[in-house]
Amino acid sequence: MEEKKYCYIHKNVETRLKCTACGKSICPKCMVQSPVGYKCKECAQPKLTHLEEISQRQYLLGGLVGVISGIGCTYFWFLFKCSLGVLGYAAAYFIGFFVAKAITLITGHKKGLRIQVLSGMITAICVILNPLHYLYMIPTPEVFLPTCSNVAINFFMNPYSVCALFLAVLGSILEFKK
Ligand SMILES: [Zn+2]
Ligand SMILES: [Zn+2]
Repeated sequence: MEEKKYCYIHKNVETRLKCTACGKSICPKCMVQSPVGYKCKECAQPKLTHLEEISQRQYLLGGLVGVISGIGCTYFWFLFKCSLGVLGYAAAYFIGFFVAKAITLITGHKKGLRIQVLSGMITAICVILNPLHYLYMIPTPEVFLPTCSNVAINFFMNPYSVCALFLAVLGSILEFKK
């Protein structure tokens, strides 16, 4: 005679169903239908791959290093882009590229949508808020915030800048696609 099996959550419910992934006994209340058969609730949850699992510390570190490299790259970009003409705007792609590279290195080559968004946002903010403008400024809110909004407004008035922003963000997210 077969041994009686009980649901691993409802210990008093007899069942013959098993999770197809881990083999635990499950009852009809607990089972979740999936393309490969019935699964327990734990196995039915979509799992992040190792590379998509990112700790808070890695986000923080990645963000910090991203911001530093973003400010550094945009600083030199704003310094030299005029002497390169239209090509200088295209060079914005490399701002994103370097921000993404820095984040990739510090987080241990993590992938996924969330790290992509982080990289893209940092790049966009650095490109829009030209760091050259705050060099000799004492950053009190009364001075800093109006300068930021003026810089941003001027940025969006120039169609080349907007194209550069697009290229920079592209560069900052493509790195995580591979
Ligand atoms: Zn399971
Ligand atoms: Zn159950």
